[in-house]
Amino acid sequence: MEQRIKCLVEECVYNDCRRRICRAPAIEVRASGDRAVYTADGCKCHTFKPRP
Ligand code: SF4
Repeated sequence: MEQRIKCLVEECVYNDCRRRICRAPAIEVRASGDRAVYTADGCKCHTFKPRP
Protein backbone atom coordinates (compact mmCIF):
# COMPACT_ATOMS: atom_id res chain seq x y z
CA MET A 1 0.00 0.00 0.00
CA GLU A 2 1.31 3.42 -0.90
CA GLN A 3 2.46 5.58 1.97
CA ARG A 4 0.28 8.67 2.29
CA ILE A 5 1.78 10.53 5.19
CA LYS A 6 2.77 13.95 3.94
CA CYS A 7 5.80 15.31 5.74
CA LEU A 8 8.17 18.15 4.91
CA VAL A 9 10.76 17.45 7.59
CA GLU A 10 13.73 17.04 5.27
CA GLU A 11 16.12 16.57 8.18
CA CYS A 12 14.55 13.16 8.94
CA VAL A 13 16.11 10.02 7.44
CA TYR A 14 12.63 8.67 6.56
CA ASN A 15 11.63 11.73 4.55
CA ASP A 16 11.36 11.54 0.77
CA CYS A 17 12.28 15.15 0.06
CA ARG A 18 11.34 14.95 -3.61
CA ARG A 19 7.81 13.62 -3.04
CA ARG A 20 7.41 15.21 0.38
CA ILE A 21 6.18 12.06 2.06
CA CYS A 22 7.26 9.86 4.95
CA ARG A 23 8.83 6.51 3.97
CA ALA A 24 8.68 4.89 7.43
CA PRO A 25 6.50 1.74 7.56
CA ALA A 26 4.69 3.25 10.55
CA ILE A 27 5.02 6.34 12.68
CA GLU A 28 4.25 7.21 16.27
CA VAL A 29 2.87 10.62 17.13
CA ARG A 30 2.50 11.84 20.69
CA ALA A 31 1.78 15.01 22.56
CA SER A 32 4.95 17.07 22.66
CA GLY A 33 4.56 17.84 26.36
CA ASP A 34 2.64 16.80 29.46
CA ARG A 35 -0.36 19.03 28.81
CA ALA A 36 -3.53 18.26 26.83
CA VAL A 37 -3.21 18.94 23.11
CA TYR A 38 -5.52 21.47 21.46
CA THR A 39 -3.60 22.31 18.28
CA ALA A 40 -1.30 20.55 15.82
CA ASP A 41 1.59 22.45 17.35
CA GLY A 42 1.24 20.25 20.42
CA CYS A 43 1.98 17.05 18.48
CA LYS A 44 5.37 15.52 17.81
CA CYS A 45 6.59 12.67 15.62
CA HIS A 46 8.58 10.27 17.80
CA THR A 47 9.70 8.20 14.80
CA PHE A 48 11.88 11.10 13.64
CA LYS A 49 15.48 10.06 13.15
CA PRO A 50 18.11 12.58 12.03
CA ARG A 51 20.01 11.97 8.83
CA PRO A 52 23.57 10.74 9.43
S1 SF4 B 1 9.27 9.73 10.64
FE1 SF4 B 1 8.05 11.53 11.22
S2 SF4 B 1 9.41 13.30 10.87
FE2 SF4 B 1 10.27 11.55 9.79
S3 SF4 B 1 9.49 11.72 7.68
FE3 SF4 B 1 8.10 10.37 8.84
S4 SF4 B 1 6.48 11.70 9.61
FE4 SF4 B 1 8.21 13.01 9.00
